[in-house]
Amino acid sequence: MRDRGDGLTTGFGKPVDDDQNSMTAGERGPVLMQDVHLLEKLGHFDRERIPERVVHAKGAGAHGYFEVTADVTQYTRAAFLSEVGKKTEVFVRFSTVGGEKGSADAERDPRGFAIKFYTEEGNYDMTGNNTPVFFIRDPLKFADFIHTQKRNPRTNLKDPDMFWDFLSLTPESVHQVMVLFSDRGTPATYRNMNGYSSHTYVWYNAAGEQFYVQYHFKTEQGIKNFTAAEADAMKASDPDHATRDLFEAIERGEYPSWRLEMQIMPVAEAAEYRFDVFDITKVWPHADYPPTTVGRLVLDRNPDNYFAETEQAAFNPSNFVPGIGPSNDKMLQARLFSYHDTHLHRLGPNYHLLPINAPKNAPMNSYQRDGAMRFDDNGAGGPNYWPNSMGGPAPDPSSADPGMQVEGLTGRTPYPHPNDDFVQPRALFRDVMTDEDRDHLISNIVGHLKNAHERIRMRQCAVFYKVDPDLGTSVAEGVHVDSAEVERLARLSDEKRAEATAR
Ligand code: NDP
Repeated sequence: MRDRGDGLTTGFGKPVDDDQNSMTAGERGPVLMQDVHLLEKLGHFDRERIPERVVHAKGAGAHGYFEVTADVTQYTRAAFLSEVGKKTEVFVRFSTVGGEKGSADAERDPRGFAIKFYTEEGNYDMTGNNTPVFFIRDPLKFADFIHTQKRNPRTNLKDPDMFWDFLSLTPESVHQVMVLFSDRGTPATYRNMNGYSSHTYVWYNAAGEQFYVQYHFKTEQGIKNFTAAEADAMKASDPDHATRDLFEAIERGEYPSWRLEMQIMPVAEAAEYRFDVFDITKVWPHADYPPTTVGRLVLDRNPDNYFAETEQAAFNPSNFVPGIGPSNDKMLQARLFSYHDTHLHRLGPNYHLLPINAPKNAPMNSYQRDGAMRFDDNGAGGPNYWPNSMGGPAPDPSSADPGMQVEGLTGRTPYPHPNDDFVQPRALFRDVMTDEDRDHLISNIVGHLKNAHERIRMRQCAVFYKVDPDLGTSVAEGVHVDSAEVERLARLSDEKRAEATAR
């Protein structure tokens, strides 16, 4: 095999004699079909782009490790969490959500925080965000929601009417809307933000005891955000600033790190808990379940190649290891399908064989065969079916999870406690935010909402009013709608409010 330092070749290894002059019929004649080097070069170039992720298209990644700092074996049997001091290789990808691949890093948007742990029991992926909650709690709403955050189908422009129409008709979104429109919606860099699982997951120990858990990766660089003005200035001066910051910090040897704090709840407590642990629009207040530090995430190596590693990295919330599993959170359940499905489309059926996605510290012994771009030995001469008596890999019942009790009628039912949707955003506004945070929140909302139609502005102000009358009234004043009408709308049911503000 040729070294890269050797002479230039075609994709198939033939030496290239000239890479500057296309082959023509005569000095001034047309280009020849037999210039196969030119045809191959153009043909490959024409196919360089793969489908962009519909969400999380713009991202930056880095390699590193996760180290266990506290004994958690009473909660999980996961091998990579089995011992204090144990280190596991990781690859992390940060991203914005709504923007295209070339969009600015400083946009107001949640940030993706996806971690692939290359464990000895296979890959474990934790696909979180820098926000502890989400806009919606039912996956049937997801495609509609994302459409409203992207471009108008007619103008191909971002559209404040679509954006606020959907959110104001979906009041469960208001908690996440408030996080997004606080200065945490424009983190100064990827290094200066937290990562949250947002979903509740299940941990189970060797005895099969189960716990609901929430992951909080807390930045050790400190939280640092842009104001709206600083974010706007950064978008104009350096649209790639967060990508650049991550890369350059790691090159300088300033390795960013996060402390993993877990909230842990014995499964039996969930039924009586005041918030629904499967509702991703809710957090577990720290006073109820104090976070406990269990590990540390460190990023210490930049990718050698952006496309091969960061762009082709494919994270699946469905990649679990024994000791960790999904909860009944409906959004999570849908993501268990949707991420893998997206990667099958974006990268092809053998995306799991790409070096960045393949298990590094565990064997991959499946009976999956063939498919486009199968570039390993495809199972060689081994059996391609199970059961077999040919020495093929066998299932290991000891890796089973303990199972969850389920009951009830099948059906399409909403989450049962809709009236508590305003409790947590209210706590955020009244108890967590400083006066400066509240001022910025209001001006950030006004700066965006003022561009929507009056009836939509009014409806969204009513939702804010339900969080806190001062918030609703201040935003109403800022976007020039009648606060008395906002107050009246806030007192209506969601259905009546929607009717009252319909076209
Ligand atoms: P605490 O006072 O114990 O914690 C407040 C949390 O809010 C801290 O984790 C802090 O993060 C975070 N925070 C501060 N400013 C913002 C912001 N603008 N956007 C999002 N998060 C922010 O409060 P409780 O646990 O009782 O929760 C009160 C409210 O705080 C919740 O209703 C929720 O809105 C918010 N919150 C709660 C979280 C939780 O898991 N309990 C997580 C994040 C937010 P940090 O410590 O990094 O500064």
